[in-house]
Amino acid sequence: MRFAEQEENRRLIERLHRSVADGRVSHAYIFEGPETVDKLAFAKAFVKGVLCPDGRGENCGKCEICGKIDHDNHEDILYISKGDRATVRDSAIIEMQEHLKVKPLGGKSVAVIQDCDLMTAKARNRLLKTLEEPAGDTLIILLSENMEILEPTIKSRCVKFRINPSASRPIGKKESNRRAKAEEIADMCLRREPYYKIREVLGSKKLTDEEVSVMLDEIEEVYRKYITDNHSESLPKYEFDRLYDGIYMIEEARKELAFHVSVNYAIKNLILKLGG
Ligand SMILES: [Zn+2]
Repeated sequence: MRFAEQEENRRLIERLHRSVADGRVSHAYIFEGPETVDKLAFAKAFVKGVLCPDGRGENCGKCEICGKIDHDNHEDILYISKGDRATVRDSAIIEMQEHLKVKPLGGKSVAVIQDCDLMTAKARNRLLKTLEEPAGDTLIILLSENMEILEPTIKSRCVKFRINPSASRPIGKKESNRRAKAEEIADMCLRREPYYKIREVLGSKKLTDEEVSVMLDEIEEVYRKYITDNHSESLPKYEFDRLYDGIYMIEEARKELAFHVSVNYAIKNLILKLGG
């Protein structure tokens, strides 16, 4: 399957490219998708975008670095999987920690954890510790079939992408307007503007589940941006705790929606909590 040919996934790749080009690559990502989706190929394409010197998010596919990634022999990248076992064990995460400690030859030390839904409790704990104290030049990518299995504490520290196996829907003007709107809402929440004002931006039209899901992703991305761009002169500064709490609240809102709480209620609740 040619992954990037699918419109929905192309959009994801574009978002990832953009984050690389803007220099706001996060420390940790979860790529979630069903078994039928080649998540590893997706992860490799992303890592190429990060490490390829031709770069700015896109990879040339021809240089030495891209070649090494294609052939699984890039020194800075460690791949972890359960292999023949039933679980990803603690020892594999210890190995990952050691790997990430080594100064990378290129831009970043990278670890890709496949089968991350099958980590032992001990392994998950250890991973959480690493995620809590991210080093500047490390990148951890978790590949998951169902990230609901992972602890919220792990998920809240990762940028999450859901990879769609079969969608093919072109992105329209309507949708890009909605994204701009989501960005504005995130900023208003962070500035603690009153709910009625945010409600005005949100508009009175009832949102579909898909629209809300996109909006939550976009709001989360803004929060992530403030965490990764903490040193940027041009952006306002917010407390890390508040930003991480916000990401956690967004995750909670997703859960509420999964349990069929009314969309309007979930959004109002989220906005009040984010602005609180
Ligand atoms: Zn390259």
